[in-house]
Order: sequence, then C-alpha cells, then structure tokens
Amino acid sequence: MKKIFILFLIICLIGCKNAKNDSLNEKLDQEEEFEKEKKLTKEDYQINKVDELGEIPIMMYHGIYNKKNSETNYTGGNIDKDGYQRTSEAFKGDLEFYYNLGYRMIRLTDYVDGNIDVELGKSPLILTFDDGLSNNINVIGLDENGEIIIDPNSAVGILETFKQKYPDFNVTATFFVNGELFQQKEYNEKILKWLVKNGYDIGNHTYSHVNFSKVGKEESLNEVGSVYEILDSIIPGEYVNIVALPYGSPYSLEHNNMQYIFETSYNGKLYKTKSALRVGWKAENSPFSEEFNPNFLKRIRAYDNNGEDFDIQMNFELLENTRYISDGNKNTIVVPDSKKNIILNDYNKSVITY
Ligand SMILES: [Zn+2]
Repeated sequence: MKKIFILFLIICLIGCKNAKNDSLNEKLDQEEEFEKEKKLTKEDYQINKVDELGEIPIMMYHGIYNKKNSETNYTGGNIDKDGYQRTSEAFKGDLEFYYNLGYRMIRLTDYVDGNIDVELGKSPLILTFDDGLSNNINVIGLDENGEIIIDPNSAVGILETFKQKYPDFNVTATFFVNGELFQQKEYNEKILKWLVKNGYDIGNHTYSHVNFSKVGKEESLNEVGSVYEILDSIIPGEYVNIVALPYGSPYSLEHNNMQYIFETSYNGKLYKTKSALRVGWKAENSPFSEEFNPNFLKRIRAYDNNGEDFDIQMNFELLENTRYISDGNKNTIVVPDSKKNIILNDYNKSVITY
C-alpha cells in the first residue's frame, strides 16, 4: 500500500512539473511574440518597404500538361494560342520565379477575409485553377492504405514537390470545379478529401461551365446550387463559398443573374457565396484598401507573351512598384504615411503608419 502511495506521489510530481513547464513555455512564447512586434521600428518598415495596401496577384491557371516548352507550337510555356493551358516545365519555372521574387502563398479565402499571414518583407500570392481538369491532380492508383497516389507531373504533384523544397513557400491553391469534379469518377471523392486534408481549397465553377450572360434565373440557380450540393455531400463545411465565373461572365456586378450567384436556393437549401472571381488581367487590391471589393475579383492569366499584354512577366514587373509587402504580423496593418487615408479597416486590426 505504501509503495503504491509513493508511486502515486511521484506521478503527481512529474505531472505538476510538466504542467508548470507548459505554462512557462507558453508565457515565453507570448513574450517572444511581443518582443518581435515591439522591436520593429520605422526604419525596419522603411528597409523592408512594408506596404500592406499594396497589390496582390491572384494567378489563374487551367490545365498543366506534362510537356517541355519546346514541345508546343506557341510562345513560352503556352499549350494553346491564348495560353490558358500551360506546360509542366513552365509551371515549375513560374513557382521558382514567384518564390525567388519573395512571394509566399496564402489561401484565397484568407485573402478575402483579410487574414494575411506572410513573413516580414515578403508578399502574398494566390494560385487558382479552373475547370477541374484531370491534370490538376491526376491519380495513378491507390497505395496499400487505400490513399491516392498522385502523378508527380500533375499540378498538385508539382506543388507537393515545392512544398518539400521550400517549406516557407506555404504552398496552397484553390481549385474551381464543375459537376464532373476532377473527371476521375472512381477517385473524385478521395481527391476532394485529400485536397482538403493537405491544405488546398475547392470552390465552385458551375455544374456545366455555364455562361451566365446567356441563361435565366432557374438555370443560374441550378448551375451554382448543384455544385455546392455535391461539395456539401463529400466535404461538408470544408469547401469555400467562392464562385469562379466561367468565361468571366457576366462581366458586370449589375447583371441580373449576380443575385442568384450570391444567394442560391437549391433543393430547399440556401447557399451564400462570399466572393466571385472574374477573368482579369492584373493584380488585385489589398483587402485593407478602400478599393477592395470581394464580390468581383480579377485574376492574372498565367501565360507567356514576351512580357506584353499583361502576361506573367509584365504583371510581376508592374508589381515591383505596387506590391503588398508584409510586416510579418497579421494583426496589424502597416502602411506608409502617404497612404493612410485609403485604409479600409473592417477587420479591427491595429493600424501603424510610418
Ligand atoms: Zn472555366
């Protein structure tokens, strides 16, 4: 009996000590965080050119084809004349290019929510893929645990390689799918679950890639609602309520069908969309800018055109003077004095001007 009591006492003492260590560590972490915030001076902001009202690129990709650039008949890494489809060689080059310029990925949904967590001196970047093409995440079989095996040359395969190579790149992307999801019937459900589990997002690109300028109310509701219903059945609560507008249509927020995209009743359920993406040409505003409008976000077409007509190269050259540069703290909005009058602070963050 005595022995048991002593054993109990020892366990108690160890437990207490661990609990004490935990709370001490927590306190130290908090202090460290506080020190980090306190230590940044105006000079740090100047040296790093911090500007959280700068622009943020939302890249628009479609298919990634396992080809070399020399194997296509078009400029650079374009697979087709307009550069909507891209070679895997070019896509890998794009990722190196973004990383080396100091861009770090954030989730589209975090951008819309003004939740931008990027280290000091770095800039946020958002990747999107439309059309749910099988080369976005091509499954080549299942392993012994029943987990999907992803083709390393499909978009997600390449992204996963970069995740290993540059852990601080914060690799992520949002995939906008149609009714066929990723066009791999036997694997679609596993793919959606795998993507969510591994830090990617899934959004809505309408059931049949509809052109909203050419249909009425009922069809608009069905096109949006049916994709939400499918996502809801496979990954309930884990998809994003964002619609990428097929063909970028309708081209105006005033269009009559926009209301059915933002509030969609379908099969007795109401789905609310928090953001719609159009096809664009250049980078978007900071979510802390007066000009920010999440309802109608423009994207950069990820294509090559010798640095002209808003291709990747041209856009990133333009961004050198306008890009969002982080102070490394997601709870503050830091901007140069000259911009302090155009801050939109709906997020209850502390504003620092310098
Ligand atoms: Zn599309």
